Amino acid sequence: MKRIIAVLSAFFLLLSMTACVKTEDPQQPVDVPVYEKTIFAMDTVMTFKVYGEGTEPVLDECEALIRQVEDEISKTIDSSDIYKLNASNGQPTKVAPETAALLAAANEYSRRTGGAFDITVEPLVALWNVGGGRTVPPTQAEIDPLMGMVGFRRMSVDGDTVTLDGCRIDLGAIGKGYVSDKLYALLKSHENVKGALFSLGGNVGVIGTKQGDKPFVIGVRDPKGQPSDYLGYIELSDMFVVSSGDYERFFEYDGTIYHHIIDPATGAPSRSDIKEVSIVCDDGTYADALSTALFVMGTEKAMKYYEDNKDFEAVFVTQDSKVFVTDGLKDKFTFTGAEAGYTYE
Ligand code: AMP
Ligand code: MG
Repeated sequence: MKRIIAVLSAFFLLLSMTACVKTEDPQQPVDVPVYEKTIFAMDTVMTFKVYGEGTEPVLDECEALIRQVEDEISKTIDSSDIYKLNASNGQPTKVAPETAALLAAANEYSRRTGGAFDITVEPLVALWNVGGGRTVPPTQAEIDPLMGMVGFRRMSVDGDTVTLDGCRIDLGAIGKGYVSDKLYALLKSHENVKGALFSLGGNVGVIGTKQGDKPFVIGVRDPKGQPSDYLGYIELSDMFVVSSGDYERFFEYDGTIYHHIIDPATGAPSRSDIKEVSIVCDDGTYADALSTALFVMGTEKAMKYYEDNKDFEAVFVTQDSKVFVTDGLKDKFTFTGAEAGYTYE
């Protein structure tokens, strides 16, 4: 039912917003035209804003790019490489060079995050089916036999040939980040695009500046509030901000929230102390992988990962309503969540 309501609301949102409308930014005097578009793709609502003379057609190029990538990586579209691999019965399978590179990167992220991020978690994602109609958690007896199918070392990538050894894959945790990198490159290739902001359901990308050379301001969502409630914001240019949280897809059973991010070590939705994590990074795919991985790890392991790598920044919101940011974000993040009951550490 929730899903039907979500799809219907997205549909009505589309009805009102699909047209490309030239808009004025309320925060700035208009000296550069702005164009906007909203679409529904990859199971989520996506919005785009481009700043610059004559940039309206770029919005259609963005949409075409997203539809093309979705066809290539969706696990449910039967012409996609991912669908082919999941049906390959362990046979080495040739895929597009870009798919092979993405899967090799996924394995590298798994290795680096100690398996907290793992695209072979697919059988568990399918069993839990969070957001897809499940209302009662599966039993341990249903989970246990699937655990043997999970483990990133079961997927090997050799050139453009990929072999899945008794496993299945799901790019839900990096697909939107991967598209974000491609959108970023497309928008950068247009000289007349002075600035752009896109949001692919939790994956935000910003390029250049708004009118008046102001940086973009990205809100960090209040995970206990409505989708339009924020507990702070970050000022940025040429960067990605990717969030994972337990409010995105979930069901509640017997007073417990069961969300869509699975801990590959337990086979169940992760039970870390993180309610929401937002990753700031100049690589959209890596940012997306990290948002999922750090959410699973919890704050202690996540901060150790940060100290060891320092190739991203992050905002953490804990289950007990504490908010803290990594060192490199301290001068870019503004906390506004006190009234909503959060404390800034
Ligand atoms: P995100 O919202 O980016 O954190 O991605 C969550 C999605 O990735 C889920 O809906 C699943 O499709 C998939 N997923 C869930 N848990 C994991 C995990 N531990 N590693 C990789 N993918 C996952
Ligand atoms: Mg992710």
